[in-house]
Amino acid sequence: MSDFISKLIKEEFLRQELTINLIASENYAPQNVLDATGSVLTNKYAEGYPGKRYYGGCEIVDKVENYAITQGKKLFSCEHINVQPHSGSSANFAVYLSVLKPGDTILGMDLSCGGHLTHGHKVNFSGKIFNFIPYHVSPETEQLDYDEIEILANQHQPKMIVAGASAYSRTIDFKRLYDIAQKNHALLFIDIAHIAGLIAADIHPSPMPYADFVSSTTHKTLRGPRGGIIMSKLDHAQKLDKAVMPGSQGGPLMHVIAAKAVAFDNALTPEFKSYQEQVVKNSKTMCQEFKNLGYKIVSGDTDNHLFLIDLRNKNISGKEVEKLLEQSGIILNSNSIPFDPTPPTVTSGIRIGTPAVTTRGFKEKEVLQVVHLIDEAIKNKLDTNFAQKLKVEVQDLCKRFKIY
Ligand SMILES: *Cc1c(COP(=O)(O)O)cnc(C)c1O
Repeated sequence: MSDFISKLIKEEFLRQELTINLIASENYAPQNVLDATGSVLTNKYAEGYPGKRYYGGCEIVDKVENYAITQGKKLFSCEHINVQPHSGSSANFAVYLSVLKPGDTILGMDLSCGGHLTHGHKVNFSGKIFNFIPYHVSPETEQLDYDEIEILANQHQPKMIVAGASAYSRTIDFKRLYDIAQKNHALLFIDIAHIAGLIAADIHPSPMPYADFVSSTTHKTLRGPRGGIIMSKLDHAQKLDKAVMPGSQGGPLMHVIAAKAVAFDNALTPEFKSYQEQVVKNSKTMCQEFKNLGYKIVSGDTDNHLFLIDLRNKNISGKEVEKLLEQSGIILNSNSIPFDPTPPTVTSGIRIGTPAVTTRGFKEKEVLQVVHLIDEAIKNKLDTNFAQKLKVEVQDLCKRFKIY
């Protein structure tokens, strides 16, 4: 390997080992996932689907993809799964492309309320190609306002309703969304990019009985390789597969598909279920302790692996906290809060997630310690030496909980 890149990989390895990662969308892939991702399967062109490829020499990769499909169906109890999307965004692109035409109307969650760029933001392909109508959380409860969704669906008669979020800490009522979609003859598309691991472990309700399409990433709570998947009702299977290839992608990443299969196998074990239970316990524990310390939690609580803190009563912006904590080796991201008065480059909030720290073995005791480290950092934001003091504590904690 180039000396330069191999040195950087070592540096990044150490950065990961020695920092506390609270980014809700990140995780540490286990060694068996890394091994598959780094395998010779990367060499193989396999445009098409098992048994219907455009290249010779696919007999082995066909078995790989068929196995990923079998295990994916078992894990999510779905009628159909496509394991080829290169990412969550590509997965969403293919879903829209499969059943909609440019200009069609879609209801999607507003980005500032926790939605994703691919749910209709104007700078994203989704917002440029389709006529997205945004729905919001209620300003009072900061939880999804299903009544508003129902009114908007009635008024705009969308072809599709998309739900699922990147920064929303409460359980989503899929049944209610299904009822709204049914009444208005709209397709229902649920994006479980963040909560796929919780759903796989049966600790968040599954959208599968209700949704026409369900997309996900495989690298967040699911703890697999960086990539995407799409599940659908059998009726949509053909259109969906065509929308992925040749509609929007060329050759599949067979090494990543193999790693997805490994991740599905991992997720079918009892250890994975206990892991997800601990992810939620850790999230609830941190959330409660922040409340005890006078922090305001967006929507008041968490049901899942993440929560948002509204920092306005602490006189510090999200960006400032992100930068401050980074100096001590605590990594998280600033995040807009619903109806945020500040721009996305500043933000009034931070997002905290527990999938990564739980993978390295943190339990209630350690996450409580992390809450206090964060609180002290904020209280001592004017003391320039304080970050260095904290860094020692952060690294001590990290060394006791090795990732690899
Ligand atoms: C992360 C995420 C995606 C996109 O995934 P990428 O792999 O980064 O393209 C899509 N939807 C939601 C809700 C997400 O949180």
